Amino acid sequence: MSKSKPKQITPAKPRAVCAQVEEVPAMCPTCQSTDRTGYEGIIERQISGTKRDGTPFNLVRWLSCTCKGCGQRLRVRRFENRP
Ligand SMILES: [Zn+2]
Repeated sequence: MSKSKPKQITPAKPRAVCAQVEEVPAMCPTCQSTDRTGYEGIIERQISGTKRDGTPFNLVRWLSCTCKGCGQRLRVRRFENRP
């Protein structure tokens, strides 16, 4: 690589291109911790519907894990909407 060659600077793209979304992590009902072990077992079911907040889903997953805060066993239910 030649040192005389100017470094290519890519112009900043407008941030509006990237839609900001929020992911709510599962919270332990016992100690309110969101820190947990990796998922140990995953159950998937092709279930279509609409959540109470109006979000559509076509896949429901149950993920087993353990809370790192208090050791409570957790089963996280996750609603997904896949194309
Ligand atoms: Zn906990």
